Amino acid sequence: MKTFFTPGPSQPYPGLEQFLVDALREHVVSLSHRSPAFMEMFRRTTDGLRQLMDIPADYHIYFLGSATEAMERIIQSTVRSRSHHFVNGAFSEIFFNVARQLGKDATEQRVPWGSGFGLEDMAMPDGTELVAFTHNESGTGAMLDLQDVYACKRAHPDVLVALDVVSSAPIVKLDFAYLDCVFFSVQKAYGLPAGLGVLIVSPAALAKAHSLAAQQHVIGSYHSFRSLAEFASKDQTPATPNVLGIYLLGRAVADLQARGIGQLRHDISARAEALYQLLDEHPTLQPFVAKPQHRSQTIIAAKVDDSALFVEPLAQQGLVIGTGYGDHQRMLLRIANFPTVDNKQMDKLLQALQSHRP
Ligand SMILES: *Cc1c(COP(=O)(O)O)cnc(C)c1O
Repeated sequence: MKTFFTPGPSQPYPGLEQFLVDALREHVVSLSHRSPAFMEMFRRTTDGLRQLMDIPADYHIYFLGSATEAMERIIQSTVRSRSHHFVNGAFSEIFFNVARQLGKDATEQRVPWGSGFGLEDMAMPDGTELVAFTHNESGTGAMLDLQDVYACKRAHPDVLVALDVVSSAPIVKLDFAYLDCVFFSVQKAYGLPAGLGVLIVSPAALAKAHSLAAQQHVIGSYHSFRSLAEFASKDQTPATPNVLGIYLLGRAVADLQARGIGQLRHDISARAEALYQLLDEHPTLQPFVAKPQHRSQTIIAAKVDDSALFVEPLAQQGLVIGTGYGDHQRMLLRIANFPTVDNKQMDKLLQALQSHRP
């Protein structure tokens, strides 16, 4: 038996096997995305997400192919020329690059990988239409303090705020009053098969898309905020979506609600604390993110001389942990602290790390 503490794809959602069997029995795979049964399933999944994540009734929920697609759609549908990006790792950098590749006059505030941002770093150039934040940098384990993001929105109420919560949803508790475009994909903390992105859009962000379109700007083709909104109002999608993915997400969301999201958040937080304490005390490991207030709860990154010295011996015990991402492959370990792993499995990993001293 293997347990995956990898940041994504990650340990499968407990119960995924049953969800898949049910999906086949209920003919989900053969469902037309224009049928009443699909529309009902679309509604069940979006209503469940609204409850689980406290998404306001006037915010829109769209289904896309991935989180990276969400970055592209956000830039196309809300930015005429200027977006500003807070870059502290691989994923915030991808968002910035998407804006540049789409020909926008995108600007960035860059800090070293493994650092976070404080409110004092959150200035932006005049004329910024959208600011892009990555809540949880999965590559480095650095997390933003959302109070700083909200304060930034209070200081610039006319600027749209985009927030990547790919590796922190649904554990992170969000206040949508300060957020305009929030997105995640399902192969991280939800432990579901990859290939589904979820994008949550404020009325102000959708209004911006309509105003850009009215001025003859290209805001996307088959997936623009306008086309997604038009079909979502009928509980549908513009093109054939990942129907199975939407079904599985609906099942996982209902199950998370039954388990109690408050309890899960509490458990994840306690486990993160135990992991960081272990790293602080371990002779050959140390937390990669120096400032405790910027350390992620869901992706714990540890500095190490050679990640293989831990990854391979632990894998032999069935405990699969992640190496660093990209250039940091060798010098980092990454441990996903997702709700798909239970407390007992996490205890086993803690013990194994504790006693492994290469
Ligand atoms: C994995 C990840 C992404 C990319 O998600 P895809 O679904 O592969 O597009 C974006 N942002 C963060 C923080 C991630 O961890």
